[in-house]
Amino acid sequence: MGSFLTRRDAASSGVGALVLVAILIGGGLTYQALVGGSSQQLVTAMLIDAIIVVGLQVYIGNTGVLSFGHIGFGAIAGYTFALLAIDPDRKSTVIRNAPWGLNEVQFDPAVSVVIAVLVTLAVAVIVGLGLARSGAASGAVAATVITLALLFVTHELAVNWNELTGGDRAGLSFSIGATLSSRWPIYGVLLGAVVVARLFAVSRPGRLAQAAREDDLAARAMGIDPKVQQMVALLISVAIVAVGASLRVYSIGNITPKFFFFEYTLVTLVMLIVGGRNSVTGALSGVVVITAAREAARRLSTEGYELFGLSLDSTATDWLFREGLPTIVLGAAMLGFMILRPNGLLDDREIDVALMRRWRRRHDAEPAAPDPVPSPPEVVLRAESVVVEFGGFRALDTATIEARSGEILGLIGPNGAGKTTLVNAITGMVPVADGSVALGDDELTGAPPYRIARAGLVRTFQNLRLFSSLTVRENVRVAALAADAIRNPRARIDPDALLVEAGLWELRDRRAGELDYGNSRRLELARAAATGPRFLLLDEPTSGMSDVESVAMVDRVRNVARLVGAGVIVIDHDLAFITGICDRIYCLDQGAVIAHGTAAEIQADPDVQRAYLGSAAV
Ligand code: ADP
Ligand code: MG
Repeated sequence: MGSFLTRRDAASSGVGALVLVAILIGGGLTYQALVGGSSQQLVTAMLIDAIIVVGLQVYIGNTGVLSFGHIGFGAIAGYTFALLAIDPDRKSTVIRNAPWGLNEVQFDPAVSVVIAVLVTLAVAVIVGLGLARSGAASGAVAATVITLALLFVTHELAVNWNELTGGDRAGLSFSIGATLSSRWPIYGVLLGAVVVARLFAVSRPGRLAQAAREDDLAARAMGIDPKVQQMVALLISVAIVAVGASLRVYSIGNITPKFFFFEYTLVTLVMLIVGGRNSVTGALSGVVVITAAREAARRLSTEGYELFGLSLDSTATDWLFREGLPTIVLGAAMLGFMILRPNGLLDDREIDVALMRRWRRRHDAEPAAPDPVPSPPEVVLRAESVVVEFGGFRALDTATIEARSGEILGLIGPNGAGKTTLVNAITGMVPVADGSVALGDDELTGAPPYRIARAGLVRTFQNLRLFSSLTVRENVRVAALAADAIRNPRARIDPDALLVEAGLWELRDRRAGELDYGNSRRLELARAAATGPRFLLLDEPTSGMSDVESVAMVDRVRNVARLVGAGVIVIDHDLAFITGICDRIYCLDQGAVIAHGTAAEIQADPDVQRAYLGSAAV
C-alpha cells in the first residue's frame, strides 16, 4: 500500500532540491563576480531570504492557510539567538538589567541557534493549538488574524521590553568581529531547508495537508483530520524560519524590532506569492525575481536612470524614484499577482517534474485487474427517525433507512425531497436534531465527518469536490494514504487498479480540475473507494453524464463496490440507472420516506407516482 514516502518521490525531490540550490547559489556567485562591490551583501541577503521563504512555503503552501505571523516567529528566534550569542561585555552596555541573568551568559553561535529554534517551536506549539481550535482551513480568516496578532505581539514586546531587547532605538548588536564570517553555514542551511521542504511535500502528512488545502470538506469526508498535518507543517516551517532568522541576525550583526516586522513580512510574502506558494521551486523563483526587482528599483532611486542612452536624473518623475520605489515595486507585484495570477509564476510546478515525467511514465505499467478484497462480514447501516432542521424548516422529518453492506440501495425522490440532506446527516455534515445513525454497533450520531469516514462511511458529492490541483492519480492515492494514516484494518485495493476500473488510467497525470463531468464523477467514485469503506454513499453519480456513460456507470459502480467489498447507497434521478443497479429503493418526499421496496414495487406505488406528479415522471 501507499508507503509513507515512495522511494521514487523521495529521489526526484532530492534531485530537484540539489538542482535548485545549485542554481540559486551558482547564480548568486556569478552575479557577485560580474558586478562586484556591494553585491556580496545583496547575495547573502537573498540566500537568507530564500531560507525564510522556503520556511513559509512549508506551511502556507501545503496547508493553504495564509500566515502573516511567521516573521513574528522570526523575531522570537532572532532575539533569542542574539541574547544568547552576544558577548556579555557588549550586553552589559545595552541590556545591563536583563532578566534571568541573560546578560551574563554567552553560548557558541551554533548552540544559540539550536536554543532559538527550540524556544520558537515552543511558541509555535501554542499558536498551532490556537489555529487548530479556530478551525484553520485554506482561506480561513480566523487563522490569518491569529498569526497577524502574533506578529504585533512580538513587535510590541521587542519595542517595549527594553531590559531584554535593548528597545526600539538601540537594538541588540554584536561586538565587532562576531558577525558571520563565512557563507558556508548559509549554504548548508539553505540546502537542508530545501531538501526538507521538498520531502515534506511528498510525505504522507504533506500530501494529506495538500488535500485539505484543496478542499477541506472533501478531505474530512475521506477521513482526514487536517489538524495533525497542519501542526506538523507549522513546526517544520517555524523551525526553518527560526534558523533563517538567526542567520539573518548573525550576518547583519544586529537586531532591532523593525527587522522582523511588517516590511519583512511583506517582502517575504510577496516573494512567496509572486513565485508560487504551492511549490518550493516557485518560492525560490519569487525570491530571485523580487530581489532583482527591488535592487533595480533601489539603483534607480539612488543612482538615477538611463533611458535609450539618455541619462535622466532630475526630471518631473524624480519623486517616484526616491526611497519609496522598492516598496512601491513590492506593493505593485503583490497586487498584480493577486489579481492576474494568484498561483504565482510557477503555480505548483517543481523543477524535477519535467525532467522525470517521461521516465516515470515509461516505468509504470497498467496494473492487472485485482482480486476483490476477501468479503467482510455483513454490516448494517441504520439511520433511524432522523430529523434535520434548517432554521425551523424540516428538511428531514423522521426519515428511517436501513442498508446492508451486501446490497446496492437506491434513494429517489423529487428535487428538494431531502436526499442529499439524508446523506449529509449520515456523514456528519449537517447537525442531526433528532434520531440516530449507527453502523453495526458503532454509534455515529453527532460524530465529526472524519470520524464517520474512518468508521467506513465514505461519500461523493452532488456538486463535485475533487482536489482540483492534484492529479487524478494523486486524488486516489491521497485517499489511500488517509486510510494508511489511521491504520485502517480493512483490506484495500491498489489505488492504480481503481483508476483502471474507473476508466481513468490514461488520464492519471491530468489535474483533476481539468476533467469533464463524467470523468470527475468517476474519479470521485475511485477516490472514495480507495479509502477502503464499508459503504459508498454516492450523490447523483451520473449527473452531467451522457446516456451512454450513465449506462456504463452501472457496471463501474458495481465492480468498484465488489472490489472493495463495500455496500452502496446511491442517489440518482436517472431512472434507468437506478432500476438497473439497485437491489432495493427508498423514495423520499418532503423529508419523509414514503415508500420502499424493489424497483418494480416502487414504480407501481401510488404515493410515489403522486410525489412525482408535475416533476420528472418515474
Ligand atoms: P434533494 O433531495 O434534491 O437532494 P436536499 O436534501 O438538497 O434535496 O434539500 C432538501 C431541502 O432542504 C430543500 O428544500 C433545500 O432547499 C433544503 N436545504 C438543504 N440544505 C440546506 C441548507 N444547508 N440550508 C438551508 N436549507 C437547506
Ligand atoms: Mg441532492
